[in-house]
Amino acid sequence: EWVDFNYFFSLIIDRFEFSKSQDVHFKRLLPSSESFVEIDTDKMTQVLDNIISNALKYSPDGGDIRFSMDVLDDQIIVKISDDGMGIPLENVKRIFDRFYRADRARSRAMGGTGLGLAIAREMIEAHGGEIWAESEEGNGTTIFFTLPFEPLEDGEWG
Ligand code: ATP
Ligand code: MG
Repeated sequence: EWVDFNYFFSLIIDRFEFSKSQDVHFKRLLPSSESFVEIDTDKMTQVLDNIISNALKYSPDGGDIRFSMDVLDDQIIVKISDDGMGIPLENVKRIFDRFYRADRARSRAMGGTGLGLAIAREMIEAHGGEIWAESEEGNGTTIFFTLPFEPLEDGEWG
C-alpha cells in the first residue's frame, strides 16, 4: 500500500498522545511535504507501536519523547528518542535479539516478552530498511530506522 509516511506516522503519534497516562511530552519534527512509500501498514503500525511503547515504558515523569523524520535522496530516516534510563553500551546491539531484555530486574518490573524489537527488525528488513539504536545509560535512547524511498520526478503521476 502506498502511503504518505509523514501522515501515517502522525496518526500513530496522535493515537499515543491522546491515550497516554504518563506525564511525558511529545515533540514532533516532521517535514511539511509528503513522502510516499510502499509499506505493509499493519506491520509498520506494529513496528511503531513497539518502539513508542518502549519509549513510554522507560520515560521518566516530565520527560520528552521526540519524533522526527528526515527525507534523503533514496531513503527516509525515522528517529524516536526518549529521556529514559538508557541501555548499557555493551547491550545496545542485543536489544534486537529475540527474548533479549536489557536488565532482568528492571525488565521483570516493566513486563513484556523481549520480542517487540526482534519483530520490528524483521519487519523493517523485510521492507528493505535497517534499524538500529543509540543509547547512553542514564541519558536516554534513540531508535532509528530507514525505509527505501524514491522521490517522484517532476511530471510523474503522484
Ligand atoms: P515486548 O516488546 O515483547 O513487550 P520488551 O519491550 O521487553 O517486550 P523489546 O521491545 O524487544 O522487548 O525490547 C528489548 C529490551 O530492550 C527491553 O526489555 C529493554 O530492556 C530494552 N529497551 C528497548 N527500548 C528501550 C528504551 N526506549 N529505553 C530503555 N531500554 C529499552
Ligand atoms: Mg517492547
